Amino acid sequence: MSPLAVGAAPTPAELGATPQEWLGRLGGPSLFRVPGRDRTRSRAVVTLLHGNEPSGIRACHRWLSTGATPAVDTLFVLGAVAAAHRPPGFAYRMLPGSRDLNRCFRAPFAGPEGALAAAILAAIDAARPEALIDLHNNTGHNPAYGVGTVVDAARLRLTSLFATRFVHSTIRLGALTEAAAGLGAVTIECGRAGDPAADAVACAGLDAFLSAADLELDAAPATAMTVLVDPVRVAVRQGVRIAFAELPAAGVDFALRSDIDRHNFEPLLPGAPVGSLAAGAPWPLVARGADGEDVSRDYFVADGSLIVTRRAMVPIMMTTSVDAALADCLFYAARQR
Ligand SMILES: [Zn+2]
Repeated sequence: MSPLAVGAAPTPAELGATPQEWLGRLGGPSLFRVPGRDRTRSRAVVTLLHGNEPSGIRACHRWLSTGATPAVDTLFVLGAVAAAHRPPGFAYRMLPGSRDLNRCFRAPFAGPEGALAAAILAAIDAARPEALIDLHNNTGHNPAYGVGTVVDAARLRLTSLFATRFVHSTIRLGALTEAAAGLGAVTIECGRAGDPAADAVACAGLDAFLSAADLELDAAPATAMTVLVDPVRVAVRQGVRIAFAELPAAGVDFALRSDIDRHNFEPLLPGAPVGSLAAGAPWPLVARGADGEDVSRDYFVADGSLIVTRRAMVPIMMTTSVDAALADCLFYAARQR
């Protein structure tokens, strides 16, 4: 049995009154195709690869509830449906015991999440969409931005439907948009999960993506775009106990500033404090770029008990959730192109 349920476009009754009702009816990973005005072309909308990131599914539910016809045939792919639906709703990135689905889009496609990722890729491949957007949220305070494996007109143009910032990432994590790099594919981070502003970004951008007869993927974006490059992934070294608090705190090795996510996308100069290290605690960070080498000591340095930036950088995707920091990473450090 395929791990991905393939069905027809949902009727208003199937959609229900709320995204949660709809997710309950779907039950698991789902794919459906909505016929467009132009049946000869297609686009793809992917969302809920992370169950705790609701902006994309809210935007899809709202758009589909209008009964509008998209400009071209549109493939909708909903990933971690069960994790999203699990009470209290949009609380689980993935089900306990499962792997992060958006790290499974690469060989060997092992286990149930790998099989699902392979099925999603095969369906997208067969549809040959002219563009693909994958809608996400962050856990910290972030403006909306796009992420892609290449900086080109198509990706900047697609991102500009949602945001004015684009991150060119060469780090390979096994994300969908890495595997679908042959298409004009972008990951859109709509903003913080649960923030109505992030939902509004997703709704407006999705409407533009679905309504435009011609996305003009060869044209320059209508707005000036800020492009960030060469991100390194800054994570907590294994075994280091962290908190977003002031030191001293019991049982904490490394205390990060609790307002650290307010600095997302702000250029930091050398010497900017990141957090405080308890007496005798080990070096707390590991930072890896595309080549996988730990460059944390090139980017950060101890100044007494403080850990400060060693070079200018633009932090992005900073979180203030201990769970998110330990399960994924603290933030990415990039530079402006
Ligand atoms: Zn995500």
